Amino acid sequence: MTYVFNPAPTVVVPTHDGREFPVHRVYCVGRNYVEHAQEMGFSGREPPFFFLKPADAVVAVAEGQTGVIEYPSLTKNLHHEIELVVAIGTGGRNIKAADAAKHIWGYGIGLDMTRRDLQGEMKKQGRPWCIGKAFEQSAPIGVLRAKSATGELLKGAITLKVNGELRQKGDLSQLIWSVNETIEHLSNAWTLQSGDLIYTGTPAGVAAVASGDVMEGAIDGLGTLKVRVG
Ligand code: MN
Repeated sequence: MTYVFNPAPTVVVPTHDGREFPVHRVYCVGRNYVEHAQEMGFSGREPPFFFLKPADAVVAVAEGQTGVIEYPSLTKNLHHEIELVVAIGTGGRNIKAADAAKHIWGYGIGLDMTRRDLQGEMKKQGRPWCIGKAFEQSAPIGVLRAKSATGELLKGAITLKVNGELRQKGDLSQLIWSVNETIEHLSNAWTLQSGDLIYTGTPAGVAAVASGDVMEGAIDGLGTLKVRVG
């Protein structure tokens, strides 16, 4: 096989046990905490819906490090969304919620960075969200921890501070669609594969960040994720 050019390297996320998790796809769940749905102008009583980011939007941040993302083009309203990320170890389709946990390899802390002004314009026009959600470096993520070490994460605080000030606060138990239900819905629409990441939605308190701001996310049992906007 002779490639026309060298293929891009596989996107990987470091794991807590010193390995690398190769990323296949990045799925995201929209409006999955009631108070966040309300702050975006919705009731929080709708079926789950999804969007994707390209795998190379992932910015993996090693344990104890501060990741850096560039302030993206075109926007004047870059928002943070702190999220539990589920890492799929075993794929499948039409997975039942009751069987979903065995498809989970582990968990991480992620940021679904959003060009909110562009997303809002697309919503208004009924157009796809890609330009608001799926841009480069829009998916920072910390080290992944194996479910075999953490147990199944069903509750626990999820928070985000910006420059030390608390901005977002919720609990994993407040997810409208649980991780297992999300896997059921996703796997009805796509064939889940090893290496898929699922950003499971953000609690209330989303807001803008500026160049120089440092975001610090935390989820009980998963440590912290620190990212600076360059
Ligand atoms: Mn989100």
